This record gives sequence, structure tokens and C-alpha cells, in this order.
Amino acid sequence: MLVDNHQRKINYLRLAVTDRCNLRCNYCMPAEGIDFVKNDRLLTIEELSRLSAILVSQGIDKIRITGGEPFVRKDLMHLMRQLTKMKGLNDISITTNATLIGPYIDELKSLGIKNINVSLDAIDKATFERITRRDQYDTVHNNLIRLITEGFNVRVNFIALEHQNTQDILPVLELAKHYKVSVRFLEEMPFNGGSKSFQKITWDYKHILRHIKSAHPDYYRLPSPETSTSINYKIPGFKGTFGVIPSFSRTFCGSCNRLRISATGDVITCLYAKASNNLRDVMRKTGSEEKIKEQILLAVGNRAKTGFEAQEKYKNVFSNSMTSIGG
Ligand code: SAM
Ligand code: SF4
Repeated sequence: MLVDNHQRKINYLRLAVTDRCNLRCNYCMPAEGIDFVKNDRLLTIEELSRLSAILVSQGIDKIRITGGEPFVRKDLMHLMRQLTKMKGLNDISITTNATLIGPYIDELKSLGIKNINVSLDAIDKATFERITRRDQYDTVHNNLIRLITEGFNVRVNFIALEHQNTQDILPVLELAKHYKVSVRFLEEMPFNGGSKSFQKITWDYKHILRHIKSAHPDYYRLPSPETSTSINYKIPGFKGTFGVIPSFSRTFCGSCNRLRISATGDVITCLYAKASNNLRDVMRKTGSEEKIKEQILLAVGNRAKTGFEAQEKYKNVFSNSMTSIGG
């Protein structure tokens, strides 16, 4: 079992499989993209699979595949097949922009991968295109509805962006009225690779909740797992639920059970921290499982207690882009 230096059990890995993306969401990266790493610095599918197996042997039982956009990697399904064979790995999920997932939906279903988070920051097409800087709305919307109606456990992630999409908060919530889906509203974080700058946000989770309350005064809170980053609610008469994720306010750090590995093998122990070490180099230099495990233990044993503590320690962490971190 992995336990950090604050006695928190670490059983959840967020594994980025690429830093590339076919969208250019303005809260994630600049219009021209970021300096994407050279191909040979990305972990291969075999390396991603090996690392996952090692981490599962150390006590990770939940893996979320993220990126960049996971499905820009043509060999992604090979990894997904490997993961489903791993004993002890009980929960495999994917976070995607849903532009490219269409051809893989049937196989994901047959592999038993049911938990899909879809990022959708607007229900209005023009707003979507302004934010993502691409014209993929119809594809995303069709894939989203297909995933929901085919029985996947879908969560929609919507980032509340001042002056950009807050007029869509109530309309996007309508998805939860008609479908058994969870719509989650996230606070924006300053990890956008220099796309824009801000030090504080006006649309924090309390503001989002007040806004929702103005239209749905009788929503009520649902119980959530202790390690959940979302605070979840139900509106009477709605088929689905909604939630808020205080990713900038950071109310959930105390029970954090996550470890992140970037597409280049960096170990990131907190969103607001810089990478502590790199597993690709260890894997390629020595190949030794013991050495890899040692590095994982070292990282887990040196975690900041909260995102605020990490931010204080790693001063220029806000120059990062979420496409390199994995969200
Ligand atoms: N491309 C996939 C997607 O968009 O779902 C997966 C990678 S993306 C980096 C993972 C998550 O991070 C998405 O839900 C995205 O909305 C979120 N994200 C990206 N930049 C963010 C930012 N600056 N603040 C808050 N969340 C962000
Ligand atoms: Fe791509 Fe996801 Fe970043 Fe948007 S949030 S640019 S879809 S990685």
C-alpha cells in the first residue's frame, strides 16, 4: 500500500498518455499550442503499461487515463486492453474531450470500461468554438449523447470561465434533467501555458452554487466518498445529479488520494507542485523494477500537505499547461 508522509493512502493514479491535443481550449493552452515534447520523450504504450502494473502492485486500484487528449494516441486501445487484464485494478476511467472517441465506444463497452468524463464547457455551439478554438461541437455533442444512452457512467466537466460561458451554466445543467448524468462545475485554475493570467477567480464554487440556487432553490446535498473532489447535489425531479469541484479553492486537499504521472513519466504529487522525479529515465536507464518502486516511494513520501503549501514552495508553477499535467 502507498501511504504518503501525511498518512494519506494513495490508491488513485491519473495517468497522462500524451501532451498533444486536437483542441486548443483557451483556459488550457495558447492558440498556437505549447512546446509539445518530442515523440521519443513520451512513454511508449509498453512503458505506460509496465508502470501501471508496478503501481498496481504497490496498491493503486484506480487509474484515470488523461492527457492531452488520450484518443489522439492511435495505440491507446492497446493500453486499455492491457489495463483491463490487471488484477487488483478495480476502476479504469478516461477523461476526454469526446472529439475522437466515437470509433472506440463499442470496444470500450466490451472491455467493461464504463466511467468516462467528458469535458464540455458550453452548450451553445458558438461559445464552444470560441473556447476550444475548433469547430468540433456537433461531434462532441453526438458522442456525449451516445455515451450516455449506451449506458456509460458519464460525468460532464464544465469549467466556469468568467466572461466566457457562465451564461451556459443553467442550460448545461438541463442535461442532468433529461439524462442520468452528473454535470460537474469546476473552478478555473491558472494552468494554461501562458494563454492568459489571473491570480484569483470570481466564479468560485460558492458563486456557482448561488447561481444554480437562483433557478433551483430546492437542490439538496448528496453524500460523497471522503476522497471525492466534488461536492454533489440533486435537484428534485432531475434524472441525474450535479456537483462543484473547488479546484482553485482547494477544500479537498486533506483527503487527497491521488498521484499523477505525466506523459513523459514525471511524477507529480500535487497539481500545484512541480514534478518531483522522472520514471521514464529510471525505466530506460536501469530497467529495474526495484529502482522504479524506490522512486515512487520517494515521491509519495515527500508530498505537500495542501495545494497552498505546494504553490508556496514551487513559485512559478502557474506557467504550466494542463495538457502536460493531465488535469
Ligand atoms: N483532453 C481531455 C479533456 O479535455 O477532457 C483530457 C485532458 S484535460 C487537461 C483534463 C481536464 O483538465 C479537463 O476536464 C479540462 O477541462 C481540465 N482543465 C484543463 N485546463 C484547466 C484549467 N486551467 N483549469 C481547470 N481545469 C482545467
Ligand atoms: Fe485539449 Fe483537454 Fe486541454 Fe482542451 S482541456 S486543450 S481538450 S487537453
